[in-house]
Parts: sequence; structure tokens; C-alpha cells
Amino acid sequence: MPLLRGHHLICLHFFHGEGYNEAFVKNLKEVLRKVEEEEIRITNGVDDICKACPYLKDDRCEYAQGADEEVREMDETALKLLNIKKGAVLKWEEVKRNIPWIFSPWYSNYCYDCDWLKTCEDNPEFQRLKKEVIR
Ligand code: SF4
Repeated sequence: MPLLRGHHLICLHFFHGEGYNEAFVKNLKEVLRKVEEEEIRITNGVDDICKACPYLKDDRCEYAQGADEEVREMDETALKLLNIKKGAVLKWEEVKRNIPWIFSPWYSNYCYDCDWLKTCEDNPEFQRLKKEVIR
């Protein structure tokens, strides 16, 4: 059963093949394949995506100074917005269904300042949702 943390429940919907390195992308694709077939379990720490990340050190995100605290705060916000509790078991489809409803506060809080914004902006669904925010 794939293990996912809060902010990945939102950001992964806009993934389209880019990542830190080949191993990271390969793992990410595999997790995305699994979430379509199996139920997922929610965690508030390192998950199945983080496991292949080159910036994971001692179960902490070392992408930049303060990154671990930042992603944990993003996780909490994501779970609050999606009304999901740590440890919950659910279907990816249930999460997907709610993305349009929570996209506006998420975008306003995080996307504008995110290093991945340019790649997410190439995703047609992200573009569609962003238009709704700007309208
Ligand atoms: S721009 Fe960043 S915060 Fe926004 S959905 Fe993409 S990866 Fe997540």
C-alpha cells in the first residue's frame, strides 16, 4: 500500500515526468501507477516519494535550509484543506476529486513561490485551475 504525505496528495496531480534525477522520477512514476490500483495510507513524514529523493538525509528534507520544517507545514495545510487525517487509508480518486475545491488556497499559499511552478504550469489541469484562481 503506497504511503503518501500531505503535500504530495496535492502536488503529485500535476507531475508530468520531471524530477531531481532518473531514480527519483522512476520511483515517482511507479508510486503513481500504484496509487491508481491500490488504496493509499497517509503519513505526516517521509513517504514513498521521499524515499528515492537525493535530498533525504536521516529522514529529513535537506533540499535547502529550513526545507524540512517547510514541507511539514505544507503537509499539515494539505491535510487540513483535504480534511484527511494522518493514518487514514483512502483511494487516490477520492483525493483527486477534491483538488479543484482546494486549489485556490493552495496556489495562493505555496505555488507562487515554489521551485516547481514552471513544470506544474505545463500541466493542462494546473493551467485550468489557475485560471479559476485568477478570474
Ligand atoms: S507549484 Fe509547487 S506547490 Fe504548487 S502544485 Fe506544483 S509542486 Fe506543488
